[in-house]
Amino acid sequence: MTVYLVGAGPGDPGLMTTRSLKLVARADVILYDRLIPDGALDGARPGAELIDVGKVGGGEQVPQRDTNELLLEHGRAGREVVRLKGGDPFVFGRGGEEAQLLRAAGIDFEIVPGVTAGVAAPAYAGIPVTQRGAAAAVAFVTGHEDPGKEETQVDWPALAAFPGTLVFYMGVRKLQRIATQLVAAGRDACEPVAVVERGTFADQRTVAGSLDNIAARAAAAGVRAPAITVVGAVAALHDELAWFDAGPLAGRTIAVTRARPQASALAARLRGLGATVVEAPAIRIESLEAELPELARFDLLCVTSPNGARRLLELVRDARALAGPAIAAVGPGTADALRAGGIAADIVPERAVAESLVEALAQRPVRRALIARAEQARDVLPDALRARGAEVEILTLYRTVPAPLHDAARRAALGADYLTFTSASAVRFFLDAAGAPGDGTRLVSIGPITTAALRKRGLEPHVEAAEHTPDGLIAALLDDAGRRGGGT
Ligand code: SAH
Repeated sequence: MTVYLVGAGPGDPGLMTTRSLKLVARADVILYDRLIPDGALDGARPGAELIDVGKVGGGEQVPQRDTNELLLEHGRAGREVVRLKGGDPFVFGRGGEEAQLLRAAGIDFEIVPGVTAGVAAPAYAGIPVTQRGAAAAVAFVTGHEDPGKEETQVDWPALAAFPGTLVFYMGVRKLQRIATQLVAAGRDACEPVAVVERGTFADQRTVAGSLDNIAARAAAAGVRAPAITVVGAVAALHDELAWFDAGPLAGRTIAVTRARPQASALAARLRGLGATVVEAPAIRIESLEAELPELARFDLLCVTSPNGARRLLELVRDARALAGPAIAAVGPGTADALRAGGIAADIVPERAVAESLVEALAQRPVRRALIARAEQARDVLPDALRARGAEVEILTLYRTVPAPLHDAARRAALGADYLTFTSASAVRFFLDAAGAPGDGTRLVSIGPITTAALRKRGLEPHVEAAEHTPDGLIAALLDDAGRRGGGT
């Protein structure tokens, strides 16, 4: 039994370490802070117990005593426990105290360092915390102390005399006091200062100034926790080196309901555009055992979805088996999945619906067709081919089944700014598992079939993609977000 005290980094999910992701994926129990990256728990096992012991700057928090008790209780139960903290667990994270507690109780632990906000937030604002000629040392300082303590422990004269950069954690509400004390203790009132709010998150903001005006500027900008304050010559480099642009979807929360492997790709693209993404995969793809028939008997093979394409490719033992029939893919996504396996489809309609494939096949004589598809599928394509006199066989490759949703994912998805659906089954399974979203949530549908499934449940999508692919969905979302202006 081991308890892992793990740093999850400052906020950008890309800054989580490989080790932290592995441990999250393996854990029986995860005790997590609220200030962890968006999606940090997405890789947790469906059966894992996720416990929010959140601390938001100054807000309500689970008392440390209770967190300690949970750590001991689960640690003693011999389960794999991950204690997931923002940034680095040993930098103002009480990781040291928790390690002492575990050692005293005889429970094994491991420490997994993380990227700390005091270095990462400045870095994302173009501020190197050390710089040759400008800062040969850096000090990490806590801006607030135990609420119970009246007198400050911070030695202001010593800090003011420190020959390098000062990085304050947790000090955003005490900015005026920090600046005044530093100047009173001898620091130059014109010394550059930068406050980085929500560093490395898609909606990061930086307010720059100097000791004499930073508090007023930060207040005017409405800066709130979490924020890092950098005092020193290097803070002025923000003007020169700023590089991190908030994407067009910054400030938007977008829920993705599709199955995990595909959800992750879509989520990564949305995050790249600045969105905060909630992965709420209500659906899972279950491969079915199937025997590939003799393909030479067919003159047409239709593949109706990317999942179908992948499963089909798994079943093909010898690529020459696919040499006979013409190959039709429903839409570009399916064609891409085939291409990934070295198969170039002959017929690819632009719109990814069966009706479009029927149209695209109109001029083509078909005698015997094999349709590779999901268990629950519409019969538009086989019906149309049969009506034209073709013999049609169906090869059932996979089924979509409901996937259990974590409570946290369910709640986050229902409160998101956008709730996206990429298939009719995702609509059904998500609404069954999560119930209806709130009025403030805009529903995004990938195309008419998905829209029909929403309508059947009494919901009207606010956005429908013109092109029925993930790209099309993202384009429609960007368009809607752009027209509605400023993030939330
Ligand atoms: N262990 C964490 C720090 C926890 S203390 C670490 O190593 O980063 C919490 C404080 O960290 C916040 O009040 C804020 O000052 C800072 N902080 C954490 N994440 C931040 C972020 N993304 N941007 C700016 N400051 C952050």
